[in-house]
Amino acid sequence: MKFGGTSMAGTERIRRVANIVRAQAARGDQVAVVVSAMAGETDRLVNFCREANPLYDPAEYDVVVASGEQVTSGLLALTLQALGCKARSWLGWQLPIHTIEAHAKARVESIDSDALIASMEAGEIAVIPGFQGLSADNRVTTLGRGGSDTSAVAVAAAIKADRCDIYTDVDGVYTTDPRIVAKAKKQKAVTYEEMLELASVGAKVLQTRSVGLAMKEGVRVQVLSSFIGEGAPPADDLPGTMIVSDEEMDELVEKGLMERQLVTGIAHDKNEAKIILTRVPDRPGAVANIFEPLAAASINVDMIIQNVGRDKGETDVTFTVPQSDLARAQALLEDRRGEIGFNRIITDSKIAKISVVGVGMKSHAGVASSMFRALSDRGINIQAISTSEIKISVMIDEDETELAVRVLHTAYGLDAQD
Ligand code: ASP
Ligand code: MG
Repeated sequence: MKFGGTSMAGTERIRRVANIVRAQAARGDQVAVVVSAMAGETDRLVNFCREANPLYDPAEYDVVVASGEQVTSGLLALTLQALGCKARSWLGWQLPIHTIEAHAKARVESIDSDALIASMEAGEIAVIPGFQGLSADNRVTTLGRGGSDTSAVAVAAAIKADRCDIYTDVDGVYTTDPRIVAKAKKQKAVTYEEMLELASVGAKVLQTRSVGLAMKEGVRVQVLSSFIGEGAPPADDLPGTMIVSDEEMDELVEKGLMERQLVTGIAHDKNEAKIILTRVPDRPGAVANIFEPLAAASINVDMIIQNVGRDKGETDVTFTVPQSDLARAQALLEDRRGEIGFNRIITDSKIAKISVVGVGMKSHAGVASSMFRALSDRGINIQAISTSEIKISVMIDEDETELAVRVLHTAYGLDAQD
């Protein structure tokens, strides 16, 4: 079981969490719980680091930011004990959760689970702080923001859990953001691949990396709400959204438990910015010259378009980077103006990326064209397009985000009937 920051924000909410955990254990299950820091706490700790030293040492940053989860894991163990349960906390360094050394963005390598399993078999509920681990040189590491989801999946894989229930402030994965489209529907199931695409294009239900890990390790993941009343159905009845393999999805469809859909979800992301380099020489190596320095600075480039056909052997190159990296990217490119040989650099952070995702489109033509038509019918201009086997993304003006999401939700027949 994993509980996010909103569910852990304060002793009152931790008591609700403890009751959910106790109910699960009372069904005869051995339970390990992974927790986040209280909502807002990690941001607060990050700010302390910035104030203390703007050029902070990532190893010491990890010592500071990992503390939020230490507090909530201890508090949950205490609260469970107050309810009469046997419970104890296991900090990242105590298990330990071994990670690579990359501070602030470490990856889990392995988890020593013998002691953990022995204690669970003895009837003790294990409470594990998410987000934190230990490097080979014995220092505290953290897994990157939102990393508790990944901790939960990694623990589930290590102890071969029957299921990894991710309790959060929404009751599942929706066809789109319900704050934008009131008729958004909760999905009973989505595939790992779809969830991976949805997570990476801005549906913030799960950390992207946790989905990749679950897929690789075959962990059964359910996303469900921690804000439930007394008579709510138990997690074993799968009230949330299950993340499943393609084969399981086919079975669900055959059994009539899921409808076969072309599009599973529509996501939006306003956190990207666009960069246009004009009049780049149209010759081998030109694009490599642009993207190598960005890669070296760990700046993730997403959509890329290169226009051909300008005269005099020149082309414009357009691409997107995270908004938070825009200033750095711009400075890096300016520095290499001579080497790359562009004329002007134009940036725009008022853009949004809208993505339609669905495994159905693997075997179906026309999903892209109906997207483009639906948008054009409402006068929405497409500035760039990118695709994968199960996703089509377009870049549009940020002001048109909500309209585009609504139009597409209707166009693909996703609106809930009432
Ligand atoms: N507390 C960490 C964060 O806010 C990890 C997590 O909650 O997933 O990023
Ligand atoms: Mg989270």
